[in-house]
Amino acid sequence: MSAYEAEVSDGAAASPYEHEVKAFLSEAGVPVPRGVVVRDLDFGPARELAEPLVLKAFGPGLVHKSDAGAVALGLTYEELGAAAAAMASRLEVAGFLVEEQAEAGVELIVGLVRDPGFGPVLLTGLGGVWTEVLRDTALRLCPISEEDARRMLASLRGTELLYGHRGGPAVDMDAVVKLLMTVGGPGGLWERLELGEFELNPVIATPPGVIAVDARHLPG
Ligand code: ADP
Ligand code: MG
Repeated sequence: MSAYEAEVSDGAAASPYEHEVKAFLSEAGVPVPRGVVVRDLDFGPARELAEPLVLKAFGPGLVHKSDAGAVALGLTYEELGAAAAAMASRLEVAGFLVEEQAEAGVELIVGLVRDPGFGPVLLTGLGGVWTEVLRDTALRLCPISEEDARRMLASLRGTELLYGHRGGPAVDMDAVVKLLMTVGGPGGLWERLELGEFELNPVIATPPGVIAVDARHLPG
């Protein structure tokens, strides 16, 4: 068990911040953007990151960050200070996550749900800001097999988006399947984070691979 898991199972970390969840996921083999955490408006450490940059404010009350105006995309290093000051003037901010902006692609949701009767269930579907509107998701009990993962993806109404839409290239399906296995396969994260649910939304899928650009963990 990692220090993160120990803390979560202690109930000490009520709702860990995005960067803490991403550090844990990254160790578990989930690709996440390179990023730095800044708490004092000194953005020097962000110089090592490649532009364009994404700025996200975090704080106890900030859950749906884009609704709150706590996400700014497409920034240069020079623009970070002013964007952060604007957020800090409107929101109660504990700090900022600055990360590299991933290439656009198909936005997926990958989640782990705890059904009171059935236990851990893997969820995937079309994600991003349209998740609630599209309602295009598939569910399977954990542990899933690779065959289950491929069937889940093929069952989505919008599956065509993954396999190359309007002459566009297909996304890296093997990388999507691998991610689903990392979360819901044998020995996957569903066995480790016993005390909660989590949601990667979105995971951006492109021809070269997948990357989880947002992550939330809801300790049980
Ligand atoms: P929230 O879901 O809390 O509103 P997100 O962290 O998901 O905030 O960010 C909102 C949107 O911004 C995402 O759905 C995604 O489209 C985009 N986004 C966030 N982080 C990145 C990133 N590192 N690279 C590219 N796009 C990003
Ligand atoms: Mg999100």
